Amino acid sequence: MSPTNFKIISCPHCEQLYENASNVSLSIREEDYYSDGYVSSISYLKIRSILKCVNAACGKIFNINEAKEVPKMGLDELFDPKWVNIFRLGGYEMEAEDLEAALNSEYCKTAVNEKKVRTFLLWKYNNSIRKAVETEFSPEIKQKALANGEKLIVLLDELTIVQDYIFKAELYRECGQFDECINLLLAIKNESGKERIVKEKIFSAAKLKYDRVFCMAYFR
Ligand SMILES: [Zn+2]
Repeated sequence: MSPTNFKIISCPHCEQLYENASNVSLSIREEDYYSDGYVSSISYLKIRSILKCVNAACGKIFNINEAKEVPKMGLDELFDPKWVNIFRLGGYEMEAEDLEAALNSEYCKTAVNEKKVRTFLLWKYNNSIRKAVETEFSPEIKQKALANGEKLIVLLDELTIVQDYIFKAELYRECGQFDECINLLLAIKNESGKERIVKEKIFSAAKLKYDRVFCMAYFR
């Protein structure tokens, strides 16, 4: 990361500062696209947009877009505890337990935010089986993933773009509702070439009654 290339932001609820690297010096790497919309291997995408404040006295959930941008420090502030305790966001990701707790927080009072947190949670649960094709969910994660997927299906009540249809169809598939998945995919019109490939892969998986997340290796 280039040193000129970061922003200082602060938690909207307390004074905790974060160094938010934008990482434009990123080199092109191999990327894995997954059926659940998750993209791996791009370092900047690991900085997720929802944070749990690292200040123990605060601990509130916030969206990175709500954070205030703070001017960089001058020499006289160098030893101010606020600046000494700055938290670097590179590679920061909320854990499943934090995301589960976030669902009961003020932050998730709106459907938009709940949808976002539940999407991260879907990816988090799927991470446990994402790369290990032979592995199954543990019974506990399976139950949590199902409950989360079913809630997300209900939250996705307005489908406007093709991606929304594909994402909802994927959720149906991962929840074992294969007919609903297939019917929704069949309702998609005007998809792009890439979207058609994704659609057909999810369609085939649903026909086979396959409910795991899988890698869209085609885009590699
Ligand atoms: Zn805070």
